[in-house]
Amino acid sequence: MLKAENVSTPEDALATLLEGNKRYANNDLTSLEADLQVLKSRTVDKQEPFAAVLSCADSRVPVELLFDQSIGHIFVTRVAGNMITPEIIGSLEYGAAVLGTKVILVMGHGGCGAVTATMQAQDVPGQISSLFRHIQPAVDKHPNDLEAAIKANAVMQAALLSKSSTVISGLIKKGKLKVVAGYYDLASGTVALLEF
Ligand SMILES: [Zn+2]
Repeated sequence: MLKAENVSTPEDALATLLEGNKRYANNDLTSLEADLQVLKSRTVDKQEPFAAVLSCADSRVPVELLFDQSIGHIFVTRVAGNMITPEIIGSLEYGAAVLGTKVILVMGHGGCGAVTATMQAQDVPGQISSLFRHIQPAVDKHPNDLEAAIKANAVMQAALLSKSSTVISGLIKKGKLKVVAGYYDLASGTVALLEF
């Protein structure tokens, strides 16, 4: 098991996330044994997260926990529907270019309410419907299959991130960064990578 502090390549970063998820799915967490006081004091003046995750805001997707990671390890951006917006791009660029994250995982999850609402074109109050246009292309691809639409959305958002940020595409070209898409299954607790 590679320690978060020793991750130096995109391949190691991805493997470390997936190994941590395996421990989570097997109820075999090690991060809870970490001394939080030590981790807190070590990260007062700096952070060196090895990975970034763009997740949905859903309360059933506790990002650090499900990768068995602790303070200072994962740079997390969250928005309902795990969609790419200019602010999310800026945040992930900061994570990669300034903090040195080696992998960015765009992660959808089972039973996503944002994708469900988009699919059903629900009448919703306030600005909730502003989320829909970002998710619509994935729903158009799979209008009657929620899980397929959630997966397509994660893949499309990951592709959008890779091509709309010159900072991120530049780091990918240099072999310093990987952008991947994944799907978190609520029942099993496992994260599966998606082809894109
Ligand atoms: Zn969701």
